[in-house]
Amino acid sequence: MIRIKTKKKFGQHFLKNEKILHQISLTHLNKKNILEIGPGTGALTKYLIIKRSNLVLIEIDSDCINYINKNFKNIKIINDDILQVNFLKIFKSKFSVISNLPYNISSQVFFKILEYRDYITEFTFLLQKEVAQRICSNSGKKVYGILSVLIQTFYKTDYILEVGPKEFDPPPKVDSALITGLRNKTINIGVSFNYFKKIVKQSFQNRRKTLRNSLKNLNLPKKFVSHSIFSKRAEQLDIKDFIWLTNQIKKIEK
Ligand code: SAH
Repeated sequence: MIRIKTKKKFGQHFLKNEKILHQISLTHLNKKNILEIGPGTGALTKYLIIKRSNLVLIEIDSDCINYINKNFKNIKIINDDILQVNFLKIFKSKFSVISNLPYNISSQVFFKILEYRDYITEFTFLLQKEVAQRICSNSGKKVYGILSVLIQTFYKTDYILEVGPKEFDPPPKVDSALITGLRNKTINIGVSFNYFKKIVKQSFQNRRKTLRNSLKNLNLPKKFVSHSIFSKRAEQLDIKDFIWLTNQIKKIEK
């Protein structure tokens, strides 16, 4: 087998444990319209081509593109940066996403998932353990943050399993974990997504501050901020609380 010289700048850590690779492919429930981000040398791809239709790969590294084209028949592969791609040009109907993510861009990938939330039914990601924990965390936990709230507003997340550095070539410096997300039924949260994101971001700006303090610059009426929710810190609010809060603030701002 030809070996590819791995490139740090593309976050290349190729998973070599076949049992885990197979397991990752099985956690992904969707069997058609699948996007794989960063197939590398196709370690996961070889499981994804079984009993599935319309699999599309997006890979930034042309060496990997050549490798895949040599080793896989009839595979759709696009040489591009996942963060620049217009997904709607690739899929005409809803699709799902699976990846052993390049860890350096994982947060940006989640923001992209959110942008296409009405088209993406499911995701399966292997990523840095800390980020995985954050995405799946409930309120009240230290790691609960902006992405936990935004992703869980639209996806039911599950923390599946942890994977140690030695399962990769080359081994990353961090631990990894596998998570899945399944689109829930929420479509309309009462305010625009950008407005929701703005308030959630601002609430978490300083984790130790109460909401009364972190949202000070919105100049909300005194009577409104006397509500007990404002004595809480952002990490104490669950998804429902955030949706309620943003809707109230929007009403007042009108
Ligand atoms: N799926 C493979 C490789 C994972 S490493 C495996 O499990 O072994 C991450 C992969 O993402 C690499 O192939 C890397 O080249 C690719 N990649 C990195 N940045 C990317 C980007 N912005 N867009 C698309 N692919 C990217």
